[in-house]
Amino acid sequence: MKGVCNKVLKVDLSQGTCTPEEVPDQVYEYFLGGAGLAAYYLWKESPVGTTAFDPANRLTFAAGPLNGAAQSGAGKWSAGAISPAFNLNSDSAATGSFGIALKQAGYDAVVTYGRADKPVYLVVDDGEAVLKDAGEMWGTDAYETEDAIHSGDGEDFEVVSIGQAGERLVRFANIQTRKKSFLGRCGLGAVMGSKNLKAIAVRGDNAYEVADPDKLKALNSEINKRLVEMDNEKPEWLQIKKVGTAMATELFAPQGNLPIKNYSLADWPEGVEAWHASQYHEKLEITPWPCKFCVIQCHNKTNFTEGPYAYQGKGPEYESFAMMGFNTMCKDVRAISYACELANLYSMDTISLGVIIAFAMEAYEKGIISKDDTYGLDLVWGNDDAVVELTKHIGLRSGGLGYLLGEGTKLAAEALGQGAEDFAVQMKGTEIAAHNWRAQYISALNYATGCASGPNHERGNSQHIWVGHITLPEWGLDHVENEERWEWKKAPDINAKFHDYCNIINSAGHCKFQEFRSYTLSDLTASLNAIMGLDWDTDDLRKCGERMTTLQKLLNVRYGWKWEDDFEWPKRFFEPVSEGPAAGKIPIGLGDAIQEYYAIRGWDNDGIPTEELLMRLGMEEYAAKL
Ligand code: SF4
Repeated sequence: MKGVCNKVLKVDLSQGTCTPEEVPDQVYEYFLGGAGLAAYYLWKESPVGTTAFDPANRLTFAAGPLNGAAQSGAGKWSAGAISPAFNLNSDSAATGSFGIALKQAGYDAVVTYGRADKPVYLVVDDGEAVLKDAGEMWGTDAYETEDAIHSGDGEDFEVVSIGQAGERLVRFANIQTRKKSFLGRCGLGAVMGSKNLKAIAVRGDNAYEVADPDKLKALNSEINKRLVEMDNEKPEWLQIKKVGTAMATELFAPQGNLPIKNYSLADWPEGVEAWHASQYHEKLEITPWPCKFCVIQCHNKTNFTEGPYAYQGKGPEYESFAMMGFNTMCKDVRAISYACELANLYSMDTISLGVIIAFAMEAYEKGIISKDDTYGLDLVWGNDDAVVELTKHIGLRSGGLGYLLGEGTKLAAEALGQGAEDFAVQMKGTEIAAHNWRAQYISALNYATGCASGPNHERGNSQHIWVGHITLPEWGLDHVENEERWEWKKAPDINAKFHDYCNIINSAGHCKFQEFRSYTLSDLTASLNAIMGLDWDTDDLRKCGERMTTLQKLLNVRYGWKWEDDFEWPKRFFEPVSEGPAAGKIPIGLGDAIQEYYAIRGWDNDGIPTEELLMRLGMEEYAAKL
């Protein structure tokens, strides 16, 4: 098939072998690549009873068919495995150029399994693969690891790596690439650490061959031009190119969509002022740091060189500073950005980290922990320095509290007891992302029903229909009224369509931020047709998304998901706030909405895909192997 390599690299870390494997066309027609290909390899090779740190867990790094196209956003790629946070199917996506380079090296994916008997890293050089000793890298941070590979093996390798948090199995450890993009959620960095795999480096000269190069060129040109124009039309502090996702502060504050004080508030004018995009721009002295081919350019580089927290590196995304800043009530933009960068070095997901630090602050406020537990830190709301220091303790897994918090909010709350579970804002063992469900009930539905990455904002971004005014008209999702934020009527259908959409985009290899500037399902369908030689319309695209969501659900059933798991909501979901635009709003009726979501999907009352659905999607064989 055009646009893909029809080949993956299987890496048995226990045996120290690297073996290419052919992949049939039908796998790409069903699951495209990226997140879909990672789920396919879990289905194919990780049987019932496999858990996150089991050598049988397949950790797959996968490119998508769009990786290689000169189209804005076409650098997204994914990894997937059973998550150490919740022991179910999970995947996470990053940008940079790793996916593009992987295909240039001759593979759509690297499927890792087993466990090396000592630290290793994998080098894939134009089709040839070898495992190398990573003894000297072990114990270094993720960026130092990338530097060591660049100086030892070659500057032109694209690298993914973990830092100390991944090695030490922090359950929300991430994986970085290019010092600016991250497989953030679900703890995939800890899976990598459990396999004694410190890094992967890839490069090659394989040509990117597509079915209709002229058509793709014309599409790229038209799409890229339109995206730039749309961004330029926005007011200064809402332009992604100017401030990246920091524009979200201004957008979300009037909606009550921000996560504040461990989600106990939804309104904080002082914090909104401190974290306004203009402050972000000025205090961090940012410049754009885009991914290859991207015209949207959300990534920023900080350039401030004075003060205790000076660093030049990744400017935090909205999700990062919202959880590490708003959720802890910290206003020092430089200190919190520095804490986010520390998390990047150690390789920790800043969403989970922000939730767990806020959780620790609330435990401190309630007297469940004291200075005796916090290394002497005064863990009060708004203490920026304490956030920086606690980040170090968690990332390095210091004994005591730092170690405990590295287990994630759910396990930490259970260990602390004394009512701590009441303010642990997590579902299925994963911390909730930076969209406040009180601003749009669909966020609660999305968090409860996600099949790929627990309560994740980006793996089922149904809130975007309100918070970003994103519609999917080709699938019948047009304008919604503002008041409908707090109604359930349309929410299950919207949620199902956005889950399928996210699965497609993370499998195709495209960055969702383009959608904020007019990228459509028709654009994506036309691009996939030109690349892969398909003849799809947008209904075929939907069917592909349904297949992926169904596969993920089947995997979860295999690994022990139960109906009750979707119904164990954080207590905080039903604690109203008294101030701001979301005052008094709680998602009463969530249970009925979940059941309605199952029905719309073609799942039975227990949330299991029905025979009828499996037959319609041509997936009977996938259900047979549970
Ligand atoms: S919008 Fe941001 S993350 Fe997406 S491709 Fe562009 S720079 Fe990378």
